[in-house]
Parts: sequence; structure tokens; C-alpha cells
Amino acid sequence: MCSIVDMEVLDRFADQILVTPTELAACWAELEQQLAVFALAVAHVEGGGAWADDGSVTMRAWMRTHLRMSDIDAGVWLRRAGLLNRYDAFAECAVTGALSSSQLRELERCDRRKYRRLLGELQEDLAADIADLDAAQTALACDLWRQRAGALVDDDEPAVEPRRTLNTAVAGDGHLLGRFSLDPAGRFEFETAIDNAVTWHGKQETRTAEERRGDALFDIVAFFNLNHAGNGTPRHHPHLSMSMDITTLDAPSAVNDQTGELIDTGCAGTKLCDCIIHTILRAPDGTPLSFGRATYTVPRHLFKQVAARDGGCRFPGCSRPVKFTEAHHIHWWEHHGTTDYPNLALLCSRHHHLVHRIDLRLEWINNWDLQITWPDGTQRVSQPRGAPPTRRPQPRAA
Ligand SMILES: [Zn+2]
Ligand SMILES: [Zn+2]
Repeated sequence: MCSIVDMEVLDRFADQILVTPTELAACWAELEQQLAVFALAVAHVEGGGAWADDGSVTMRAWMRTHLRMSDIDAGVWLRRAGLLNRYDAFAECAVTGALSSSQLRELERCDRRKYRRLLGELQEDLAADIADLDAAQTALACDLWRQRAGALVDDDEPAVEPRRTLNTAVAGDGHLLGRFSLDPAGRFEFETAIDNAVTWHGKQETRTAEERRGDALFDIVAFFNLNHAGNGTPRHHPHLSMSMDITTLDAPSAVNDQTGELIDTGCAGTKLCDCIIHTILRAPDGTPLSFGRATYTVPRHLFKQVAARDGGCRFPGCSRPVKFTEAHHIHWWEHHGTTDYPNLALLCSRHHHLVHRIDLRLEWINNWDLQITWPDGTQRVSQPRGAPPTRRPQPRAA
């Protein structure tokens, strides 16, 4: 048997592989310059037409056959070849390393047919403008250039759409990390929303400015989930599709059926409080036997009664109105707490998660004042902000 991987071959390259970060950066810079030369060579061969000698119908087809490239990769190189061939300033910056390949990719987006004359005139200025920028800043600078070019070039093509991007990744601890870029209009909407959503608890505030903005972002997202017009109802219960083991309902850990990921106990508990539950009855071997009807854990009329009493989040110091809130079961639903008026209190999504996560104790003291007890014994009280009914609402006849 002959193995395709021969470790001794790798040993011969060891001094090129086992390098320092500085050497790695130098290695990449050198490689990028070679790639620029390669792109110019592609342009030269394409222009010469000799690729047709073996019967290939296009340069792109020749590259698929002889360079074992996918159609997409061949297209990438032909675009790069076209850019460097058309604009001497960009070619010079590419072969000297003054512009990186990622920056050249952004310039390719400026290389539209209708902007070519303008880009030809302004290539040196643009190259100088972006030379010291990183890839993300270059993308913004190129967007701006195209917007200005679009305003200068008179033709019928639709204006360039503003470019907004959001990239996210999940870290090992389950946190979502992200990076985003918004055009000026997007920035205005974003900053206005954060300013409106940020809360401050006065002297009792312990969160940093950064944490308060993070909480504001949570509230904005949760608010959208509760209020978007997706199916035409004003209050959107999360449609819960998670698989739980009936024997662990007291400390629910569940699997999100959409992503297959484990939902942590606090979060599963929060969702169980106020959602639409789809019951799936399974046979012992796990095959679904029947899909039950979707049921609201908190019926609409009951939510309205609780909302009329509480008038918003009942967490002490929180002023979020009803639109931000979910109904919390004071005796937790999964601990067999009942779904009726005295067992429900409104909490905004953020405080609802907090109550489940750190297991706060809630109880009514005189006339719907809500007392919250922390595990360390700290107690705080909130008053209802709505108009409580004079009579306790009677459960509806089924
Ligand atoms: Zn709850
Ligand atoms: Zn709240």
C-alpha cells in the first residue's frame, strides 16, 4: 500500500511552516504579490487567445480543465485579471503589496462597466485613499465611492443599494459574537433605537454603559419577536418546538427542534411560561404518534386581564410597557403552577429570563403589590401600574 501522505515530505517544508507571526505576515505579503503577478498573467494569456488551441471555448473553460478550478474560482481570477489589466494604478499597488487581495476584491465592486471611465480617471486617488485602511474600512470607502460615482454617472441603471452587513458566530460558551456594518441611514436607525431602549435604574444602577447598551439590544430584539406583524396578531407567542423528557420537567432542559441544540434550563423555563406549545406524542422508540393541537399556555383573554392590572413589567424599577412583556407563572408552570389570574405577572423579556435564571421568589403582598426575594434575602416590591379590576376576574367557563 502506498500512502498519499508522506510525513517526510512535510518535514522538508518544516522551516516554511514553523514560523513566527512576523514571518507569517511576510509570507502572506510575498504570496499576495505573486498572486497579483499571476492575475496579470491570466489577463495576458486570455488576451493572447492561445487558450483556444486545445478546443476550449472560453478562457474560463480552459481554466476549469487545465487548472482544475471550479467555475466560480475561474470567474474570481478572471475578474481580478480584468481589474489589474484595466487599471495600471491598481496593478502597481497589487504587485508591490500596497493593496491586499481583500482590498482589490472591494475595488472589483467599483469596476462596473458604467463607472469604468470615471474609475480610470480617479484610480490613483482611490488607491491612495484606501492604501492605509483595513478590509472592512476599504469596503465602506468603496461603497461611498460607488454612491458618488452613481450620482455623477448619468444613466438609467438603478442606484446602488446601501450595503449593510451582519456576521455572527457562536462562541464556545454559547455567547453570540458579531460584527456589523451599517450605512449612515442604518446607523441613524440603530443609534436612535439603542438610545430609546437603554434604561437606567438611577442610583441603584450597577451596569456599565456597555452592559446597558447590551441589555437595550436584547430588549429591541425581544420586542420585535413579540410584536412583529408576521401572522397579523399583535402579540406573538414564541411557537415552541422543543423536545423535552417528561421525567425532567421539574428542571427542564430541552432541545431546540429547529437547531438541534440544547436550550439551557433557565431559558427553557422562560419559554414554557408564555408560549404556544405543540405537543408531539411519541412511541417508546421515539417515532411521532400524533401531533397535538397548538395550545396557548396563557390564553389571550387572561393575558389582557393581567395586562390591565400590571400595566407593564412588574420587575421593581422597570418601566417597560405591556408590549415588551410576557406572562410569568409565579409558581412555575413546570412546577405545576396553574395558569390563572393570581399566578401570573407580567415581566419584560429581559427580567423574565433573569427571574428564571437566578430563581427569584415572587409573591403578592397586599392588593397586588409584588414582592421579589433574591437568593441572598434581598427584597424589593413593585406596585401595579394599570387599573386592577374591582372584582377578581372569574375563570371563563370552558
Ligand atoms: Zn416565567
Ligand atoms: Zn423589566
